Amino acid sequence: MNEKKVIDIEDKIMANTFAKRNLVLTRGKGATVWDINGNEYIDCTGSYGVAVVGHCHPKVVKAVQKQVESLIACHASFYNDIRSELLQKLINLAPKGLDKVFLSSSGAEAVECAIKLARKASGKTEIIAMIGAFHGKTMGALSATWKKKYRAPFMPLVPGFKHVPANNLEKIREVITDNTAAVVVEPVRGEGGILVNSDDFLPGLRELCDEKGVLLIFDEVQTGFGRTGKVFACEHWNVVPDIMCLAKSVAGGIPMGATFAKEEIMSAFNKGEHSSTFSGNPLVCAAASAAIDVLVEEKLPERAATLGQYFKSKLETLAEKYKIVREVRGLGLMIGMEMRFDVYNILLGCMERGVLVLDAGRNVVRFLPPLVIEEQQIDRVIEVLDEVLAGENK
Ligand SMILES: *Cc1c(COP(=O)(O)O)cnc(C)c1O
Repeated sequence: MNEKKVIDIEDKIMANTFAKRNLVLTRGKGATVWDINGNEYIDCTGSYGVAVVGHCHPKVVKAVQKQVESLIACHASFYNDIRSELLQKLINLAPKGLDKVFLSSSGAEAVECAIKLARKASGKTEIIAMIGAFHGKTMGALSATWKKKYRAPFMPLVPGFKHVPANNLEKIREVITDNTAAVVVEPVRGEGGILVNSDDFLPGLRELCDEKGVLLIFDEVQTGFGRTGKVFACEHWNVVPDIMCLAKSVAGGIPMGATFAKEEIMSAFNKGEHSSTFSGNPLVCAAASAAIDVLVEEKLPERAATLGQYFKSKLETLAEKYKIVREVRGLGLMIGMEMRFDVYNILLGCMERGVLVLDAGRNVVRFLPPLVIEEQQIDRVIEVLDEVLAGENK
């Protein structure tokens, strides 16, 4: 199939819910992807933060190849060797105290599980979420998501959700009632524009939740798995939540969600109260198990910290040069560059020059590259941005 045919069929048949870019990707390796015509791109989207260990990491490929020949489907009502191995690795990786996991297939599902669990474990119904938060688009997760554009067409959503400004403990204290089950936060708001919380917010929130008997949920779907320079972003502040959501990158690019909880909380679920057909699918588990090995062996969180610092400092140099850049911010290799205008042309300009970047809202350029990205690739990204910003800065 040629480029045009691929695009025509997708446009004709696929539900029209994605803002598409005119690019057909067919191959990837590390932080590089290729289009159907053989053109090469440095991938600072990481496929929306998924490709943490890099595209088609050989260890993940090998693990999937091996598993695909032994067993692809195994419902969680049966035991499975690969699933068992993965669960142990997940718990070894997770913050101390989060000893139980529910496996699913996406970020929204990981959040759904967290919401149901918070209600069940607390016997209460209200959830407090942050202004600017993104937690997914299924009805429960959407109820925690902030953006009006995503919510308004689907009212009424799940009742009992309130949104408050992040970094404002007093406001959260005010809206907590006797019926508050949980507070849900992203350690760094990703879709919201790469907004890092102030240093005292998460520790203060932990204290407040303990004082009020409210559960604390961290959505680490985007921040987790090495992205911010620690395995989990909550480690930056030494705060352990009661429930934690992980997805995107955990299975090396294959769909997986995971909801971690303290044992006494997860035990609130009775048999049958939460399940999914694909929960703990062996093929996905094999990929995740290999991805965890890669994360640890290649010290990817440390790499994200070092390269993130490097990347950010180079972007800051651009920010000094071009007045159209308002701010550079982020943690590890989760970086945002806020502009004074809509960034659509910047995304296009970069793409034309062989660099793929994301947006976050209208005016933030977002970088979520694979953590295996090379320093020279970052240098090239900066060169390209320099050119594109020079063109825009008129
Ligand atoms: C992407 C994301 C989700 C939703 O994950 P899906 O796999 O798209 O359902 C939830 N929370 C956060 C913080 C995310 O970045």
